[in-house]
Amino acid sequence: MSRSAHPAGPRHADVLPEGHYTAPPADLNELDPRVWSRTVARDADGAATVAGIPVTRLAEEYGTPAYFLDQDDFRARCRAWHEAFGGGADVFYAGKAFLSRAIVRWLHEEGLNLDVCSGGELATALDAGMPAERIALHGNNKSDAEIERAVGEGVGRIVLDSFQEIVRVAHVAERLGKRQRVQIRVTVGVEAHTHEFIATAHEDQKFGIALAGGQAAEAVRRVLKLNSLELAGIHSHIGSQIFDMAGFEVSARRVVQLLAEVRDEHGVELPEIDLGGGLGIAYTSEDDPREPHEIAAALGAIVTRECGSAGLSVPRISVEPGRAIVGPTAFTLYEVGTVKELDGLRTYVSVDGGMSDNIRTALYDAEYTVALVSRTSTAPPMLSRVVGKHCESGDIVVRDAFLPADLAPGDLIAVPATGAYCRSMASNYNHALRPPVVAVKDGEARVIVRRETEEDLLRLDVG
Ligand SMILES: *Cc1c(COP(=O)(O)O)cnc(C)c1O
Repeated sequence: MSRSAHPAGPRHADVLPEGHYTAPPADLNELDPRVWSRTVARDADGAATVAGIPVTRLAEEYGTPAYFLDQDDFRARCRAWHEAFGGGADVFYAGKAFLSRAIVRWLHEEGLNLDVCSGGELATALDAGMPAERIALHGNNKSDAEIERAVGEGVGRIVLDSFQEIVRVAHVAERLGKRQRVQIRVTVGVEAHTHEFIATAHEDQKFGIALAGGQAAEAVRRVLKLNSLELAGIHSHIGSQIFDMAGFEVSARRVVQLLAEVRDEHGVELPEIDLGGGLGIAYTSEDDPREPHEIAAALGAIVTRECGSAGLSVPRISVEPGRAIVGPTAFTLYEVGTVKELDGLRTYVSVDGGMSDNIRTALYDAEYTVALVSRTSTAPPMLSRVVGKHCESGDIVVRDAFLPADLAPGDLIAVPATGAYCRSMASNYNHALRPPVVAVKDGEARVIVRRETEEDLLRLDVG
């Protein structure tokens, strides 16, 4: 069983256990710019800084755990996506990755559109002033209330996900005397993750309407018959954390095939296709994502080629990156509480957060890296597992990473690339108080989502 911490000695490669890691990095103090947000550096004292502010000062002021979001980096990524897809294409930021009023305002100012997939996300978007026509509503089981609010506010598109929903949205639009722009989400039989994709004729999942068996073509037939719906195009989303464009190639080909069938049967060329999100980011130094302009060029070329061979004019292409915009722009700062060395295995480093602020490792076996950020160290590398404080042995934040062997309670460590799907999936497990999101820019920090308090927890508990 676990023993109490004793001074950690150097670790030799021949005693390292099996794991998800490669050799320790040459310099544990280096903060790889591919993984950390753009303004992260180290100051003369060795502390990491973001936007010029030492993390030691941020910890004093805002406490730990906390997410620090590099505002200029976020806006630069919005601009890069917008410029890459400018002229005939649209970028819809996937709000589920992380949404707050400040995020909505920045998206608005940078000219991006916004995907929402619940009434709560829609309310946040509208409250922060995103024009309704720049919002798209997603979801495989939108409630009547969500549909009603979206249609009533005049959202730019609703992405239809089932036969029942076609009727539901049409009824609401009719009742409100509106004609709602819609896309139909189809499943193309491609599932893509990181470097692999699987292309089959069928797809076994809850989202969308299958191209296989003519179901999607039937959905198009039904939508075209309804006066209260305006069919703008076809939508497809194939996976997450994708690096290889081959899955998009198959997906685009199958969607364009449907557009050609629709033209042949109905004499209409649908003006839009949406290829979804899922574009990968660097969680560790081994990941090598493509730049937005490369992705835009690749997708544009695929669609243009497929439309050329089908004799269709090229539709307006939209994409929905969430992770690729916000993921790299934030890190989570933790304080080390205990350091427990298990002989011949690894060292367990317990931090003051855990699966309540980052569920991705427990949920998807996600890979992360970690660094000592309150100081530098010349101690040898120590194979570490960063774990949280929850009552669950699967409460792991970073499965395998190297930290310096002199790591001690009170040190600050940070996990980069936690901007997406961390705060947005955060929970109150063990009645944890969800951490704040602090935006940093040009030497200044500002809370955009405050830390929860015990009063917040107790307010919902009405006894
Ligand atoms: C989740 C999702 C996205 C965003 O995925 P990322 O991996 O964050 O880019 C885009 N579109 C749809 C329909 C989604 O469900």
